[in-house]
Amino acid sequence: MTAPLIIVGSGMAGLGLARQLRARDTVRPITLVTADSGDDYSKPLLSTGFAKGLPPARLAARSALETADRLGVVLRTHTRVEGIDLEARTLRVGEERLSWGELVLATGAAPAVPFTVPGTLAGRVFTINDLDDYRRFHAALEALGRRARVAIIGAGLVGCEFANDLSAGGHDVTLVAPESAPLPRLLPEPLGRALGEAFQRGGMTLHLGRSLETLETAGGDVGVALSDGSRVEADLVLVATGLRPRTELAESAGLETGAAGIQVDRRLATSAPGVYALGDVACVDGVNAMYVQPLQASARALARTLTGEPSEVVYGAWPILVKTPLLPVVALPPTRPPARWRIEGEGQDLVAMAETQDERLIGFALTGSCVRRKVELARATPPLLG
Ligand code: FAD
Repeated sequence: MTAPLIIVGSGMAGLGLARQLRARDTVRPITLVTADSGDDYSKPLLSTGFAKGLPPARLAARSALETADRLGVVLRTHTRVEGIDLEARTLRVGEERLSWGELVLATGAAPAVPFTVPGTLAGRVFTINDLDDYRRFHAALEALGRRARVAIIGAGLVGCEFANDLSAGGHDVTLVAPESAPLPRLLPEPLGRALGEAFQRGGMTLHLGRSLETLETAGGDVGVALSDGSRVEADLVLVATGLRPRTELAESAGLETGAAGIQVDRRLATSAPGVYALGDVACVDGVNAMYVQPLQASARALARTLTGEPSEVVYGAWPILVKTPLLPVVALPPTRPPARWRIEGEGQDLVAMAETQDERLIGFALTGSCVRRKVELARATPPLLG
């Protein structure tokens, strides 16, 4: 029997690839192995669920069983791959060995938590990076049965989206971050400040320019001690301090990896023959974009390659739409530091253009009513991976 194509991971990258493959080849044996429940869900919707009061079940489009049936694949859930033997072409799962003909790693990225969470606070301090995490946080909110005081640590995309969403869902949100304004990696400071002001007008408390020192139990609360000596009391804490590509499997197998992910070329091929990677775990020709459009383009290109039509992936100038209804934000951050940011507009309606010395546009950020300029500016910006 021919060994199947095995995809490790059933997130948007793994399942997206399985769908694209099935559209081109209806018979090839495909196995997906995933450490989680294998539910087909849209991760971007996780940070919109609390405002809409969505229970976790409403976020899953279909169960693993339905997906396996629809696609004609084997989908092994709650199964963690522990090792890759490149020579024997097998995966290690406990005592079991799974043979692969070709292998795709779509293991995503995991929350990076840069401080220790005391064991006693396990049920109070959370990260939300998948549907199972959302289930746990949702259950903790439900168990409180009232408006919760939520401290969010980190003001990047994930922290800001959950801050806006939980606040819109009726909770008291405090946002803590060491930077002086929200979304420091997507927005130049004046636009970040505009977002911070919109958050404050929306009722949130911001503790910017200070970081978390310790977390401790304080009576029935969680005490969050900050670097300036101040303190926040919360019912629940949501940690959103960044994501790190899950490269451990690839690394221990000897594949080329780095801090930005598993190194792959534009055909999504790793340094080992027959082994590919895509999605949040993959650094494609030096770029790890970590959002949906790049992984969808990668899934389409890799499906062509794996069905006998070798194809390189191309990323366009695809702006990121940040889900902060208190102040709409769109950003296409430059891939290298700009010579300057040219900022226009008034109040919360701002346009920031990242330019080179010779005034070429290499990225932009928009807030408020200026987000409508996203298509026009994206057309004038070079592609992410051309
Ligand atoms: P993941 O979804 O992380 O999937 C990884 C899979 O690998 C999982 O199934 C996991 O169980 C499995 N796995 C890992 N290790 C193992 C192992 N050893 N053995 C077996 N299985 C394993 N992007 C946008 O473009 N627009 C948005 O609006 C947007 N909003 C977002 C909001 C939030 C809250 C977050 C967290 C992200 C958002 N993103 C957004 C980013 C986008 O969702 C991700 O880029 C994308 O979902 C990543 O998919 P993935 O399949 O690469 O990884």
